[in-house]
Amino acid sequence: MEKWYELPEAGLIIEPGSAAKYKTGSWRSRRPIWDKDRCTSCLTCWIYCPDSSVIVENHKVMGINLDYCKGCGICANVCPPKVSAIKMDEERR
Ligand code: SF4
Ligand code: SF4
Repeated sequence: MEKWYELPEAGLIIEPGSAAKYKTGSWRSRRPIWDKDRCTSCLTCWIYCPDSSVIVENHKVMGINLDYCKGCGICANVCPPKVSAIKMDEERR
C-alpha cells in the first residue's frame, strides 16, 4: 500500500491501460439478464457495449462480465427485437 506522500499529485492516474484494475460494475443500479437460449450470437451487443463487458469465445456470446458492466442497457436496446435475449432488471445486492 502506497503512503499518501507517494501518490501522484491531484490523484492522477499516470499509467496507461489501467481500466481493467478497477471493477467499475460495483455502482451499477440495473443489471442485464442474458438468455443464452434466445441469443443467436449476432454479436451486436458485443459491438455496442461501451465497457467491453460482453464475453465472446469462438464467435459465441458466453455471458456478461458484471465486474465491469455499468448497467447502461445499450445491449438490451440493440439486441434484435425478434430474439430479445437481454432484459434489464433492477440490481439487487
Ligand atoms: S448494460 Fe451496458 S455495460 Fe452492461 S453489458 Fe450491456 S451494454 Fe455493456
Ligand atoms: S445482440 Fe442479442 S442475440 Fe445478438 S449476441 Fe447479443 S444477446 Fe445475442
